[in-house]
Amino acid sequence: SKDAGGGTFHCYEPQLHVDAEERRVLELALRQALNNNEMHLHYQPVVDARTGALTGFEALLRWTHPQFGAIPPTKFVPLAEETHMIAPIGEWVLRSACAEAARWDDPVRVAVNVSPEQLYNPAFVTVVASALANSGLPAERLELEVTESVFMREGTCAVRVLEKILDMGVRLSLDDFGTGYSSLGYLSRTRFSSIKIDRSFVTQAAGGAPEAVAIIRAVVALAGSLGMATTAEGVETEDEHVMVQQLGCTKVQGYYFGRPLPVAEARTIASRGRRA
Ligand code: C2E
Ligand code: CA
Ligand code: CA
Ligand code: CA
Repeated sequence: SKDAGGGTFHCYEPQLHVDAEERRVLELALRQALNNNEMHLHYQPVVDARTGALTGFEALLRWTHPQFGAIPPTKFVPLAEETHMIAPIGEWVLRSACAEAARWDDPVRVAVNVSPEQLYNPAFVTVVASALANSGLPAERLELEVTESVFMREGTCAVRVLEKILDMGVRLSLDDFGTGYSSLGYLSRTRFSSIKIDRSFVTQAAGGAPEAVAIIRAVVALAGSLGMATTAEGVETEDEHVMVQQLGCTKVQGYYFGRPLPVAEARTIASRGRRA
């Protein structure tokens, strides 16, 4: 249970109880997080695999709680999804990212992660339209990242919502490809601009696993034949960069090219063509 002194979580009880208590405390804190200005965005560079030129940034959500400190998105995003808080939080992310990207040089895009839950609500179409209108960001410079899990639930309106968003000129990319359930059928029905190859494949391939190399090769070929680009995620070394480049990945993202950056640092890199 939670330490009465506040802040840290100690394991006095069986793991199950600790988790439930920690979850309850985190959920309560999460409900206040936006109002208390505890959330902000970092921006990670995405570059052209061949030229190294900046093509855009991925917006990554950060939450720093006054007592608990930095809580990783891998922990609080699933909680926000389960407790239906992801819609307001995701809307804030989208509006903030569009407003920021509107200040960047013209071709630099922003990619925003969208949870399945957000796409199950037709009102999300209006949210995207209004984020673009309010910020003045051209639709072509917004990319939404969705995971294949969106297509798992049957009979949802996610595909229709995506169609309306695509019709606005917004781009779609398929995140964490190959890590979840996939039927591949949706690939031919939804107009993705790019497929993001999960870091796990890049790491394994660089570690010499021939299966991972074969998978990357196959995904690049599949994407190419469907007219989609490929982004290799989690590229940490020069060797990994050379490898994914040789395998034909179009874009690369990872610590080797840049960590997720605070907004001001990203803005400096993204606004080189501007005279302030
Ligand atoms: P993701 O969408 O796959 O984002 C990429 C993650 O990989 C980020 O973790 C990024 O910091 C990390 N990363 C990038 N390059 C490297 C690298 O070279 N090495 C390693 N080890 N890691 C690298 P982060 O920021 O912790 O985000 C984790 C996940 O949380 C994201 O995975 C995404 O699924 C989710 N997330 C983050 N922000 C949002 C958001 O605004 N909305 C939603 N729905 N989910 C978000
Ligand atoms: Ca992503
Ligand atoms: Ca990813
Ligand atoms: Ca991931």
